[in-house]
Amino acid sequence: MSQEDAVHVLPDLPYAQNALEPVISARTLEFHYGKHHQTYVDNLNKLIKGTPLAQKPLEELIIDTFRQPDKVGVFNNAAQVWNHTFYWHCLNPAGGKEPSQALMQKIETAFGSFDECKKELFSAATTQFGSGWAWLELDGDRLKVTKTPNAEMPLTRNNKPLLTIDVWEHAYYLDYQNRRPDYVQAVLDNLVNWDFVAEKLEA
Ligand code: MN
Repeated sequence: MSQEDAVHVLPDLPYAQNALEPVISARTLEFHYGKHHQTYVDNLNKLIKGTPLAQKPLEELIIDTFRQPDKVGVFNNAAQVWNHTFYWHCLNPAGGKEPSQALMQKIETAFGSFDECKKELFSAATTQFGSGWAWLELDGDRLKVTKTPNAEMPLTRNNKPLLTIDVWEHAYYLDYQNRRPDYVQAVLDNLVNWDFVAEKLEA
């Protein structure tokens, strides 16, 4: 497929490929962003080419194809395109600081403390069996930590995603091998972009 025919394109990373070192290596981003994310974009474009689905914006495509038995491939690739773009923005080399006041208040209301919120995220990310994602999402007016298998994500239950951590093995295996808890803790302590989370909360 030529670039001009492609409906969806791989968005730029919001930082250099080595910007997240030493928590996440440039080599991991080279494969995770450059190969895995790119492949989801390419597969999605191939699957929807010449069909009415090619007219739909990405989020609509995800919601419309969720649990449609004949659209599993479209859903999986569309959701993975969205999830990865979101995940890159949830991370930042200057991350890991405390959330701003409005977000902090919401976190304290839902979890009691910022520490407890991070503990729940750690628990969700480390107990998701197999591939998937851990999330902080807005359910009505309340923050909630969840986990999803494979490509599933909060938009399909009409919740607003605020933060995600990719727990597919490809997200950490080159750097941490089987030590998923070490990857999750390092991301929570050093890379989470709470300013981005606060922006999503206000959006
Ligand atoms: Mn991934």
